[in-house]
Amino acid sequence: MKIMVSACLAGENCKYNGGNNRNEKVLRLMEENEVITVCPEQMGGLPTPRVPSEIKDGVVTAKDGRIVDVEFRAGAAKCLEIAMREQPDLIVLQSRSPSCGVKQRYDGTFTGTLVDGAGVTAQLLMENGFRCVDVEDLQKTR
Ligand code: SF4
Repeated sequence: MKIMVSACLAGENCKYNGGNNRNEKVLRLMEENEVITVCPEQMGGLPTPRVPSEIKDGVVTAKDGRIVDVEFRAGAAKCLEIAMREQPDLIVLQSRSPSCGVKQRYDGTFTGTLVDGAGVTAQLLMENGFRCVDVEDLQKTR
């Protein structure tokens, strides 16, 4: 099986704070399958570390007020391009990220409040028919 995963889940230090979300189940998947890692925020040209962002009224905005929608959507478009080329059977993404979240994301107030809805990359991938799974659901099912 070919799987695309959020790079931070594979242990890459691409998270906004310079850390990662290394996940044992994802590492196991990487041993058993062909895996492509992507970090849409880095691919959109944002540095690491970077100011955290949330989606507010449909626009990705950093905590310092800077609009980073263009960078986020550029990263999403690059991920879609890779997915179109590679045709992964499954895409496993980091929960609650404004890029990678599949089911939920923060509401744009930077108060830790969650709302239903996907991050911009997950949304674009799903709109184009790719099967995306939130890593937390992967943990429940395996
Ligand atoms: S954009 Fe996605 S892959 Fe990159 S650090 Fe955030 S959750 Fe991980």
